[in-house]
Amino acid sequence: MEPLIACKDVSLGYENREVANGINLEVYPGDYLCIVGENGSGKSTLVKGLIGLIRPLNGQIIVDPALKEESIGYLPQQTAAQKDFPATVSEVVISGCLKRRGFLPFYSKKEKQQAEKNMERLGIKDIGKKCYRELSGGQKQRVLLARALCATDKLLILDEPVTGLDPSAMAEMYQLIRKLNEEDHVAIIMVSHDIMNILSEAKTILHLKQQPLFYGSVSDYKKSEVSRCFLEVKK
Ligand code: ADP
Repeated sequence: MEPLIACKDVSLGYENREVANGINLEVYPGDYLCIVGENGSGKSTLVKGLIGLIRPLNGQIIVDPALKEESIGYLPQQTAAQKDFPATVSEVVISGCLKRRGFLPFYSKKEKQQAEKNMERLGIKDIGKKCYRELSGGQKQRVLLARALCATDKLLILDEPVTGLDPSAMAEMYQLIRKLNEEDHVAIIMVSHDIMNILSEAKTILHLKQQPLFYGSVSDYKKSEVSRCFLEVKK
C-alpha cells in the first residue's frame, strides 16, 4: 500500500530561511497523526508544506496521485475573518468542492449530494439555512469539517481544531473526528496543543522542535523522555 502523503528529508522555511528540517513521515489510510511542539516549532509551516501552500526548500513531499486529483481536506486555524463569514451553513460546506471544479460556474448535482451527505455526517443538516456567523464555536468547527470533507474523505489536515472551544464542544469535536477516522477510515493529520486529550485520540505522534524530536506510536511517545519533559512543562 502506498502512503497518502509522505515527507522524505523535508526542510521548510520562508525566503530560504529554514524553520523546520529533517522531516520524514508517512501517512496511510486510517492513520491518525498528531503534530505537537511548542509555539514557533514549525508545525503550521509543515502543514503549509503538506497542503502545497509552500514548497519544500529541500527533500520531497509525495502525495498519492488519486489524492492529488481530489485535493486535500483542510481545516485551517480559526481567524476573525472566517468567524464573520457572511454565508449560510450550506454555502460554506459546498464551497469545499470549489477547488476540485476549476472555474465551472455552478455546483453539480453530485456535489450538492456530497455536501448534504457531509452535513448529515456531522449532524448539521438541520441548520443548513442558518447564517454561519451566528453559530456557536463548536457548530462552526463542524461546518468547516464538513467543508473539508467535500474536498476529499481520504485525508483531513486539521490545524488546532479544538482551540477556543468549550469542554463539551471540544469533546464533541474529538468524537466526530474519531468516528470519521475509525468508521470511515479517513486519515487524520492534526496540529494541536491539547496534548492531554491527544494522547488518547491519536495513533501516531510527531513532536517537532524545528527538527523531529520524536516520531512514532502514542504508546512509545508516552514512554519517551521527550514527552516526559513536554508534559512536565504543560502541567
Ligand atoms: P508553530 O505552528 O509550531 O507555532 P510556525 O510554523 O507558525 O510554528 O512558525 C515557525 C517559524 O516560522 C517561526 O519562527 C515563525 O516566526 C516563522 N514563520 C511562520 N510563518 C512565517 C511567514 N509567513 N513568513 C516568515 N516566517 C514565518
